[in-house]
Amino acid sequence: MNDRKTARLVDFHCHLDLYPDHVAAVAQRERERVFTLTVTTTPKAFPRNKELADRTKYVRAALGLHPQLVAERAKELSIWKEYLPSTRYVGEVGLDAGRKFYASFEQQKFVFSEVLSACAATGDKILSVHSVRCAKIVLDMIEARLPVGNSRVVLHWFSGSAAEARRAVEMGCYFSINAEMLRSDRSAKIVDSLPRGRILTETDGPFARGESSGGTPANVRPARDGLANLYNMEHDEVDLLLNENLRTLLS
Ligand code: MN
Repeated sequence: MNDRKTARLVDFHCHLDLYPDHVAAVAQRERERVFTLTVTTTPKAFPRNKELADRTKYVRAALGLHPQLVAERAKELSIWKEYLPSTRYVGEVGLDAGRKFYASFEQQKFVFSEVLSACAATGDKILSVHSVRCAKIVLDMIEARLPVGNSRVVLHWFSGSAAEARRAVEMGCYFSINAEMLRSDRSAKIVDSLPRGRILTETDGPFARGESSGGTPANVRPARDGLANLYNMEHDEVDLLLNENLRTLLS
């Protein structure tokens, strides 16, 4: 198979601009030919991310407004909307109902509903979505505001229940899987229940466990190796699967 030679690693959710040397982080991913979606946490960070990514073959930048920052940054929603026509990729967006961020949950819901409606209005967007402790509400909102076939959702670091995972599959969602998710049996079992055609890998660097601050972009190999182990597949077979899934997602 000729494909074998061209299969690349995939990191569909990381934050290259949060590494000390953003330019070097992008260059490294380009050099290593890792298909990378670099998400942003504030829309103000997007133009520089897009500028760097546009010079590469392997890196794409996503326009985000992170739910954990909504408390201080909700006003930047207007900037987010202004940039939306310039990109197909949206993230990091979503909701976080964890204790630390719950105070802003109503505000987060407002921002996320605006984000979903804006994506639905333009269509053909690819969204990387955060759903900590509120998978049900995130899925409810996606179902209500983003008609099936309008855009595509990738649930990043999904930590919902098995039933919520099934519902997300029925809704057409993809899942970006990191190494941490494969460390617990409960979560690995849920990952194993997902259709293999909906799976991508991610690092969420620099938020990945065990990553030293001040480093270079996190390695996505442990996530790929973890999937190979879970699926009882060869590494290069998993790479082919992930490349095929990425192609389908973006088609
Ligand atoms: Mn993230």
